[in-house]
Formats: sequence, C-alpha cells, structure tokens
Amino acid sequence: MSFIDAHTRVVTLLGYPIEHTLSPLIHNTAFQHQQLNFVYTASAVHPKRLNQAVAGLSALNMAGANVTIPHKEKVLPLLDELTKEAQAIKAVNTIIIDTNSETNQTVLRGDNTDISGFLKPLETYSSRLKNSSMVVFGSGGAARAVVYALLTRFSPEQCTIVARTPEKAEQLAQDLSSYDTKGSLQVCPLDAGHQKVRTSQLLVNATPVGMHPNISASVWPYPEDFHSQQIAYDLVYRPRKTAWLQTVEAQGGETIGGLEMLIGQAAASYYQWTNKEMPLQVVQQTVANYWNSSNSS
Ligand code: NAP
Repeated sequence: MSFIDAHTRVVTLLGYPIEHTLSPLIHNTAFQHQQLNFVYTASAVHPKRLNQAVAGLSALNMAGANVTIPHKEKVLPLLDELTKEAQAIKAVNTIIIDTNSETNQTVLRGDNTDISGFLKPLETYSSRLKNSSMVVFGSGGAARAVVYALLTRFSPEQCTIVARTPEKAEQLAQDLSSYDTKGSLQVCPLDAGHQKVRTSQLLVNATPVGMHPNISASVWPYPEDFHSQQIAYDLVYRPRKTAWLQTVEAQGGETIGGLEMLIGQAAASYYQWTNKEMPLQVVQQTVANYWNSSNSS
C-alpha cells in the first residue's frame, strides 16, 4: 500500500500518554510488508473521554483498537463482548470490531492478547515447565496476565507472587483463585523470597525494574539464587537484555527478553484484525533498527 485511500482500514491505540509506544511501528511495518490497506495510529485519549473514544471506534467504522495504560480495566463496561481471557483478568488490550450479520449492528469485542503473547516464547519449554515451580515478581496489570497464563497453561506445583506490596498480590491471588485448581498460588514479600527463587524453574519479572533509563537496576540482584536449570523471563523490553537477565545468564540460566512478548501480543491482535500472520522477523528487525538508529539499548 503506497497511499491512504477511501478503503483504508484504521486501527488505533487508546492510551494516555502514548508518546513512547512502539505499536504504530510494529503494525505499520507489518501492514506495509504484506501490502494490506490498513493503517495504525496512536490516540492520546484523556481518561475523561474514554467513553466517547470507544463509541467513535464503531461510528468511524474502524477495524479495531489496542488499549493501554490507563484504560485497560476502565474499558471493560464499554464493550459488547469479552473473551474468556479478558473476563478472567479483567483487562482488555485489544478491541475487535465485527458486524452482526443478523442485526447489522457493530459489535465491540474485548480480548487480552498479553496472555498468548507472554506464552509464545515459553512454548519450547512446555514439558520442562508443566507442574514445576515458578516465581512472578510484581502484582500489577502485567502480573495478572502472567499469573493467569501460567496457571492455565502449566498447572504449576507452586506459583509464588513475590511483591513489594503483598496486599495487592493477595488480591491478585484471590481474583484468580478459580483458575488455581491445585492450590499452588502463594504470596511472598520481597525480603522473604530467596528460597522460592532458588527452587523455581521459571522466574518472571513483571515489574518495570531495569527499564530504560534505569538500566543498572535489577529486580533480584542476588546471583547466588540463580542456577543453570532456570529460565528467567523479563517483561521489560528496553534494554533487550536487562541487568537481571545478564546476571542469570552469568550463572548459566536461560533468558527471554520482553521484546518477544511485545511482538507476540501485537501479532495476536494483528491476526484478529487482518486474518493474517504477522511477519515476525521483519518486525523484529525493524524494531532493532529503530533502537539502533535512536542510539539506545
Ligand atoms: P503496573 O500495573 O504499574 O505494575 C507494576 C508492578 O511492579 C507493581 O506490582 C509494583 O509494585 C511493582 N514494582 C514497581 N517498582 C518496583 C520496585 N522497585 N521493586 C519491586 N516491585 C516494583 O505495571 P504493568 O502494566 O504490570 O507493567 C509492568 C512491566 O511490564 C512494565 O515495565 C511494562 O512495560 C512491562 N510490560 C511488558 C509487556 C511486553 O509485551 N513485553 C507487556 C506488559 C507489560 P507496587 O504494587 O508495590 O507498586
């Protein structure tokens, strides 16, 4: 597609602020590579105007939207339908707009592709992770998606949320208790997490610790707790390899950076709007080039 015309389908990101988002780069790279007549924009929507913005999606006959901070939870009551994932974690990051063939009415469906995006890089480890012990650092929105994904995909023996505000983690555990069929969810304050970290096969950082520009910070700065049988997965994607992942790697562990999840969740949204698989390598290369040219890690 070389120009925007009357047939162009529009997808937008609803967030506030949205200046640092990589989503337009990711999706427009894929649309152009596959010559799809779609365009992806970013819309700074003040929280007071979320209702109007969501109503505008169908009024403007848009193809769909992504939703990011601070609207992921507030958008739920504004939608017609929710997938079971969005319902379970009470957060939406993707809106799909369909037309009901019987009534000819538009239907806004909310989904959460953070869950499948998070699980994608873990596919190759699935036999190792089934029924194993896991630690999730953090108890915010991303931790909610991660804990749901781990419980439903791997039935862990233990899944411990290590959090600096244990009350929030307790609430998360309670909200997801119906998916915890083995009673494996536990909460642990940061200062008591060493034993859990040492005995876990998978460690997930769902906090912003280590994110650019604070790249020397580490969510768990204790090399003695890591070993070669562990997989460390950092949701932080900038830098691509955080200080924490470097420490785990130095102890022989395997690591996964957050860029894979970022592109994985984008690919799952993209598929729902276009019915096409995102060209992952092209997108990864474009993001890497963008970071190199903007002279950051
Ligand atoms: P959030 O809702 O603000 O939650 C952040 C969590 O981190 C909270 O539990 C917070 O604890 C904890 N935290 C913050 N600073 C901490 C510190 N210094 N030590 C210990 N815990 C700390 O944010 P979110 O939406 O969950 O996102 C978390 C991170 O994941 C962000 O860096 C985000 O960019 C990343 N993320 C990446 C992807 C991806 O595709 N790769 C997707 C989603 C999110 P309190 O509750 O005590 O404040």
